[in-house]
Amino acid sequence: MAKITEVRVIVTCPGRNYVVVKILTDEPGLYGVGDATLNGRELAVASALTEHIAPLLVGRDADGIEDIWQFLYRGPYWRGGPIQMTALAGIDMALWDIKGKRANLPLYSLLGGRTREGALCYTHAGGRDTVECEDAVRRAMSQGFAVVRAQVAVPGATATYGIQGAAEATTAQWGATGGLTPIEGNWEPLQYLRVVPRLLEHLRSTVGDAVEIIHDAHQRLTPQEAARLGKELEPYHLFFLEDPIRPEWKDGLRLVRQHTTTPIALGELLHSRYDCLPLLTEQLVDFIRCDISHIGGVSEARRIATIAEVFGIRTAWHGPGDISPIAHAANVHVDVSIPNFGVQEMVHFPPAVREVLPGAPEYRDGRLWVTDAPGLGCDIDEEAAKRYPYARAYLPVCRRADGAMHDW
Ligand SMILES: [Mg+2]
Repeated sequence: MAKITEVRVIVTCPGRNYVVVKILTDEPGLYGVGDATLNGRELAVASALTEHIAPLLVGRDADGIEDIWQFLYRGPYWRGGPIQMTALAGIDMALWDIKGKRANLPLYSLLGGRTREGALCYTHAGGRDTVECEDAVRRAMSQGFAVVRAQVAVPGATATYGIQGAAEATTAQWGATGGLTPIEGNWEPLQYLRVVPRLLEHLRSTVGDAVEIIHDAHQRLTPQEAARLGKELEPYHLFFLEDPIRPEWKDGLRLVRQHTTTPIALGELLHSRYDCLPLLTEQLVDFIRCDISHIGGVSEARRIATIAEVFGIRTAWHGPGDISPIAHAANVHVDVSIPNFGVQEMVHFPPAVREVLPGAPEYRDGRLWVTDAPGLGCDIDEEAAKRYPYARAYLPVCRRADGAMHDW
């Protein structure tokens, strides 16, 4: 038995903000780390951990992951939601890390062992026009990527999502507005719906079928618009269309499914297996892509993957730059140990992040690899973290041409 002696919460900004949970035990040198970063609401999660959760855990047996998970999920009268489930994810990852270190086994081994060698992954490619996007796709292919997410600017839109590709996902630029207000962009659905099929037509006629392509609609469409887009993209055989509609409109996916065979992926704004359930049991998606840091961690990811497997649905866990290398490592440990893994989103972390949070999965030959180090294989350099203090930042917001708010 290893007793929890301290739950330390570290907030650091080596280019963008990360919240790290470090659970220490009464066994000398034995601790675990977890990611509890919620982009734009980092201090809310840090406060939930420090003020409400940490005092409940000191003195408990670090080995009891399931009981601690249930205690923190079902115990409070007010359950779920992004802040609590991100806090719980940080605790869950750190406890799995401790269990792995105690057993001297990598996490994937504790989860049942390898089902595959490495995790097929995709990077981001984007451009101001179709030719610039084609160049970015070719660059990714030359680095060995077999799957690429392609985004293109929409004429007239001032802040089109995703066109800076990985650079957007690995820096704090999106929120670097002096730290007080989010960047406000504008965007029109009909212009977007005209541009995306042209992008895919261009890519297939230039790079051919040598790469699988993903496109992210980022929850900005109505079910009818998503159905139209899926239908028009059918000739180009997407790997999947990501987040076509808002998660509040899960029922709208039935309409999308009735009109298109383009594969659908959704889930980064869901927070539990209960949120995922109708998507899985009705086979409304082909890929479930929750964020392991926002669903309560490795334990819930395993449960969601198991339900998905029953319905022939594969995983594509969210893997942007706004969750830390610890979460990326947790993603890959799950990816390589479940039977129904699909693909893993990834970013190349900049040197400052690697210095503060060493142990990100390594990219090689189109896949991500974790080491055989015990637990997650990640750590935090607390001295280095102090050199990068928290800086308030926000994701941008999106407005229509007339100034009305739209979904980001
Ligand atoms: Mg996305």
